[in-house]
Amino acid sequence: MKLICIGRNYAEHAKELGNSVPKEPLFFLKPDSAILAHRHPFYIPDWTQDVHHEVELLIRICRNGKAVQAEFAHRYFDAISLGIDFTARDIQAEAKANGHPWEKAKAFDGSAVISKKWFPVDSFTEGWESVPFYLEKNGEKVQAGSALHMTHHVHALIAHVSKYMTLKMGDVIFTGTPAGVGRVEDGDTLEGFFNEESMFRVNIHGT
Ligand code: ZN
Repeated sequence: MKLICIGRNYAEHAKELGNSVPKEPLFFLKPDSAILAHRHPFYIPDWTQDVHHEVELLIRICRNGKAVQAEFAHRYFDAISLGIDFTARDIQAEAKANGHPWEKAKAFDGSAVISKKWFPVDSFTEGWESVPFYLEKNGEKVQAGSALHMTHHVHALIAHVSKYMTLKMGDVIFTGTPAGVGRVEDGDTLEGFFNEESMFRVNIHGT
């Protein structure tokens, strides 16, 4: 099972980090060893001084697909959830400056929060894209969005990624983060909401 993460998929977030909005989706992977076990705290690794939260909508791939056309992409995912793509921003900045891959900054142990709750796509009669999600840090809303604000729709993401690598049943796509990313510190609590429901709560521990 692989975690496919989309970068810069919300224009306001690309702007806040001084990045341009990419013409085609940008993606990278996290291994399954990055998944933070449910109800476990997140420990800030000792090799970074600047871990950021990135709350993201997740989609679950329900059948294998290669070179899927966007018009058929809706058949390849069956559920929506919420997670966090923890990012060591200082290490990522170093990698970007040197033209190196992002794995050290993105794929480390515990860097992928995946809610236990999944909503079937067909449970949303009005369409899941307009359902709001947000992240609270210590009870204060810091990030908010909905799929309507994505630069590249999920169907386009599936078409793009599957052109290069086969999507397999059980894979999860992290669809990018809206503006408002920020540093986490020892003692912080992050809680994510989707469809007015609490999806996860993560306590942050410093080193
Ligand atoms: Zn992200």
